[in-house]
Amino acid sequence: MKLFKKHKQAEPSESPQPMGVSAGLPRPGDTLPASLKAHSRFIKRVSCSQCGGPKSLPSTTAYIYCDYCGALIDYDFRIANADTNAGITNTVFHRLIAAVQEPLAQAKARGDRDGYRELYRQVFSQWVQECHMAVSPRAKNDAAFRDQLVAYLAECAVTKDLDPRQAPLDARMETLAAALQRIPTPGGPWMVAGEFWPYAELFKQQMELAYALIQETGVDALDPDHAPPGVALRMEYSTFCQSWLPHLSPTDGERLLKLFGLDAEYDEVQPQPTDRHQCGACGAELHTLAGARQVVCEYCGYTIDISSEAVPCRGCGARLSLPVSAGHVLCPYCNTDTRRI
Ligand SMILES: [Zn+2]
Ligand SMILES: [Zn+2]
Ligand SMILES: [Zn+2]
Repeated sequence: MKLFKKHKQAEPSESPQPMGVSAGLPRPGDTLPASLKAHSRFIKRVSCSQCGGPKSLPSTTAYIYCDYCGALIDYDFRIANADTNAGITNTVFHRLIAAVQEPLAQAKARGDRDGYRELYRQVFSQWVQECHMAVSPRAKNDAAFRDQLVAYLAECAVTKDLDPRQAPLDARMETLAAALQRIPTPGGPWMVAGEFWPYAELFKQQMELAYALIQETGVDALDPDHAPPGVALRMEYSTFCQSWLPHLSPTDGERLLKLFGLDAEYDEVQPQPTDRHQCGACGAELHTLAGARQVVCEYCGYTIDISSEAVPCRGCGARLSLPVSAGHVLCPYCNTDTRRI
């Protein structure tokens, strides 16, 4: 079954890599600045805002969940960037948006929030379907979560785009973007020249303004991941940096990450004793720390209750840990209906 397949370890590509910051993952023996360490051997230094637990188990996706309570703690730019598909999610998004550009502009001109929202719902709905690796792993299998996520993303877009304060900034952004120069390099990606820094700062200013409004108007409460403050902003910044890093020198790349606060510190994974559980939703093996109550299964995205006793399957005897608030599951190994005792 597909669900059991672990994420393939990203390998350095065969072709020569551009010398940009995003050029690839650390290879054994590489000496890299701390900010560039992104690898399964490294963990972003961060603690849970809900329970205070420090993150210490490695994460396979950019969505960092608490090892103790399953809350979303952070979004790891480095892991997102390590994904060989990182660029595709942007490309897909731009393709989907381009298809509704005209009706979007018309809705905006009419001040038609509902129409605008509906167009964005269609775009995000399609995008989440095509790029589920770009969003929380929960969106893959949990339809209710997915719908809520689409609604939240659409509402963010409405709040962001229809704020009258953004219009003059949009215009300035367009002027700056038009003035950027693309310098070709032999055998590599083009490099950006011109007023890149004012452009990046303006993007930051627009996003800060947008997310402050999203918070003021309570739109952030729609987030099905209940991400702590700052995480959504970090995701926007990550996307921006992902698309520009290949076009900057390593020094400018570092400067860009500092500007957006993405130059996090990483620690090497310390081996520690873990307990094993079997995910009742997909059958994956979960490794958990002593004291953990619930964890997010990175393979299926469900939050799994590990503080309750595991439920033995009557069919095959597997000891299943059930998703939080699920009364029963179909055993992922033998399909037998298995209920909490
Ligand atoms: Zn926690
Ligand atoms: Zn699972
Ligand atoms: Zn079974």
